[in-house]
Amino acid sequence: MKQTFGSLSERVTALFSMIFTAAKKQADHKKLAQHILLLNKKQSSVDIISEVALCLKDILNYRLFAFVMKKDAGVDVWLDPRMYKKTLEDIILKDFGIENKDGLNYLNHKFYEDEPTMSFDMKALLYYEITEENLSFRLYMLAQKPLSIYHDEIVNLILQGASGALSRQMKMENLRDAAAIDSLTGCYNRREFENQLNRNISGAIRHQTKLSVFMFDLDHFKEINDTYGHPAGDKVLKEVSAMVQQNMRTGDILARFGGEEFIAILPETDKIKAMELADRLRVKISRKVIVHGDNKITVTASFGVSEMDRNADMGKIIQDADTMLYKAKLNGRNTVMPGIIKIVSDNGLEKLKESVN
Ligand code: GH3
Ligand code: MG
Ligand code: MG
Repeated sequence: MKQTFGSLSERVTALFSMIFTAAKKQADHKKLAQHILLLNKKQSSVDIISEVALCLKDILNYRLFAFVMKKDAGVDVWLDPRMYKKTLEDIILKDFGIENKDGLNYLNHKFYEDEPTMSFDMKALLYYEITEENLSFRLYMLAQKPLSIYHDEIVNLILQGASGALSRQMKMENLRDAAAIDSLTGCYNRREFENQLNRNISGAIRHQTKLSVFMFDLDHFKEINDTYGHPAGDKVLKEVSAMVQQNMRTGDILARFGGEEFIAILPETDKIKAMELADRLRVKISRKVIVHGDNKITVTASFGVSEMDRNADMGKIIQDADTMLYKAKLNGRNTVMPGIIKIVSDNGLEKLKESVN
């Protein structure tokens, strides 16, 4: 009797768990399908990867999820939770053959010095890898418990969905970039500059903020080409523009206006601030040494600065900067126009003013 009762109870439990598993699987598949559908609506790689993380958190409740995507130089990393950064970083550097941590670009965190970290048992770390024509990534994951074949399938399905969505996204980004980016310097091209200036002028009118522009042209650049050759000139253009870009704020926009002439949009910036920035950049350019083969090349630049006036005329703001750039050339080059003069009042307060002479 007891035995019968026992086996009956076991059968009830087994039956219950089968029904439960089937219901659970059905629920998982429903979630998976919803997440895969959402993947295809995402507009950026970061949003696609976030959706993969959400899906696997939802279904597997992972302990660690790190999505590492190969880039031309280095990798993009999306990590959750952040406390595993240190341990995982060493693995990524080794697996992707990256020399130092500068090659890691974290997509979903900014890290600080001395953050609390936690290590994990590397033996438990799983990885999945996908390589496609224009895309290569790895997912590193720590699961709460060893993955069953069924769960392994779920991971593979969402990764296939992600791979399709990411690949499409990249093709679109490449097409967009090809139309907007100058291929030598990686800056925006002139056409995109005009789009961006229009957009920024509208923003400045809406929010009643200032907007400035500076234009710069490399001095005696023809001599650099003539002395060191055209490829050396190309390298100067690349390195100077990269340095200028690095020394501007995230919202500032740098474009190649043509030849050895560049133009920048500085949102929420008045003319004096723009002139100060231009002068800092002028000094940095003049101190930069560009190494090309055995040659060490230096170059200077002349700057013209202007601010959006009451009429918010796009042509006028460019024209004003150009006029000032021309003046800077006439004034001996390696200079910013208008120039800044410091006025000290009787009570010792300093004020910066522009001078166009
Ligand atoms: P200035 O100080 O008056 O600006 O003199 P400059 O020699 O810089 O000006 P100029 O307009 O006489 O010469 C510009 C030179 O820039 C000539 C052109 O061949 C060169 N240049 C334009 N685009 C490129 C490029 O993409 N690569 C290289 N290497 N040179 C370029
Ligand atoms: Mg020039
Ligand atoms: Mg020029």
